Amino acid sequence: MEAQHPPQSLDRAIQSYLRARGYDRLRLHNALFDMDGVLFDSMPYHARSWNHAMREFGLDLPEAEAFLHEGRTGAGTIDIVMQRERGRRATEAEIKAIYARKSEIFNTFPPAGPMPGARELAEQMRRDGLRVQIVTGSGQKSLLGRIERSYPGVFDPSLMVTAFDVRYGKPDPEPYLMGLQKAGIAADEAIVVENAPLGVQAGHSAGIFTVAVNTGPLPDEALLRSGADLLFPSMQAFARSWPLFFQAAARTRRE
Ligand code: CA
Repeated sequence: MEAQHPPQSLDRAIQSYLRARGYDRLRLHNALFDMDGVLFDSMPYHARSWNHAMREFGLDLPEAEAFLHEGRTGAGTIDIVMQRERGRRATEAEIKAIYARKSEIFNTFPPAGPMPGARELAEQMRRDGLRVQIVTGSGQKSLLGRIERSYPGVFDPSLMVTAFDVRYGKPDPEPYLMGLQKAGIAADEAIVVENAPLGVQAGHSAGIFTVAVNTGPLPDEALLRSGADLLFPSMQAFARSWPLFFQAAARTRRE
């Protein structure tokens, strides 16, 4: 049974965001979408690639744990596992070798399909006058082509933030702050759509109303603890609730 969000609970989620941040209302101009696990069902392939690559180097990173590191840079993930398994930092050479191998394995998988419900959600947002933009830690070269094939004309390429734009990456708020900056808007004029704890943390730290969609194997608690303002069990569920959420945002004022 999927979690339901009656209108009152949507109002309550928006109300508590406004109170915590001191904003008067949520003015929805833009929606900032994460990519892996939100727009593409690619996370299982990433988790498996991490697990296989680490094993080849004698390191253990269970697939389930890989979901907890989602959004972190490759170097950051490798360093954490190295410290745990060997009690020391990873060297530059190790980071390069392990990450290259992980990418190589990832590229043997078929291209990940679009996440069910994502297109319906983005198109509804556009009909309601929002601009939709992508904020991702990914640096895949084929990114733009893939997005345009699966989501033709939906996302504005000039507003996109990728691995090439940012220095720190999630969970730092930098990628989302840069998304706001590119769009020329403030934190109370956007929402973030994220699937991973570190991504939720980044959206939350940027001061933006952050919607978590739990498309992976982690417990809801992991996303709520990271600062999610609202949680849906899937992109389809968020797409179904969008009209109610949009109405709730339009009527809710800080009390
Ligand atoms: Ca993600």
